[in-house]
Amino acid sequence: MTPPMVFLADVSRTYPGGVTALAGVSLEIARGELIAIAGPSGSGKSTLLNVIGTLDRPTSGTVRIDGYDVPALSDRGLSALRATTIGFVFQHFHLADRVTALDNVAGGLLYSGLGRAERRRRAAAALERVGLGHRLDHEPHELSGGERQRVAIARAVAGDPPLLLADEPTGALDSVSGAGVMELLHDLNASGTTIVIITHDREIAASLPRRVGMRDGRIVSDSGGRPAAGAVPGSEAA
Ligand code: ADP
Repeated sequence: MTPPMVFLADVSRTYPGGVTALAGVSLEIARGELIAIAGPSGSGKSTLLNVIGTLDRPTSGTVRIDGYDVPALSDRGLSALRATTIGFVFQHFHLADRVTALDNVAGGLLYSGLGRAERRRRAAAALERVGLGHRLDHEPHELSGGERQRVAIARAVAGDPPLLLADEPTGALDSVSGAGVMELLHDLNASGTTIVIITHDREIAASLPRRVGMRDGRIVSDSGGRPAAGAVPGSEAA
């Protein structure tokens, strides 16, 4: 049987100094889900996304991504898992200045093992996919906020990762650009990508098929996954 895309059991993360960012989080996300993580500032959303993205290691608990036992992987194994499986999108785009859209996206494939020409070909295809086929040679300062986020999404999906993690992807955008970015994320999900989105925006959260609420490092509500996820709706409610 294929393992779930994300499997967390009793995950805790305590920072030096004693701050408990995650306090026993269990969460299963099936392949193909589109899920919102919502909650007040400081509730542990970013820490949770970083743990799922293998950028942060839990203090205790089980983390399996695409079936891989993350705490057991070496740094090299983690880099490989990230390069093949996970795409990241951030609120403030994180694009390189003075670098064209094409090279920003191709740069995301640097550790893919592909040659330069193939990286550029895939980058152009990814930009085409997000509706920016006519902006390949534009640098970030020549693009609108919504277009910059599209470039960032193209970079995140250029290697066809099955899992896309987005931390407030519309947080720096006006509502029209934000709606366009959400539409793009819905399209990517419809073509099979599992997507996890942190959002403060209630309307956006409400528009997603599954919503998980966090508070004080815990999951306090879960509208439930698709039946395939094996999740019992409301089972995480505190
Ligand atoms: P959210 O994304 O919901 O705002 P975070 O995951 O960023 O929440 O933070 C959860 C808690 O962990 C907060 O109390 C925050 O101050 C703390 N925290 C986050 N990162 C660090 C860090 N690197 N060192 C110490 N404390 C941190």
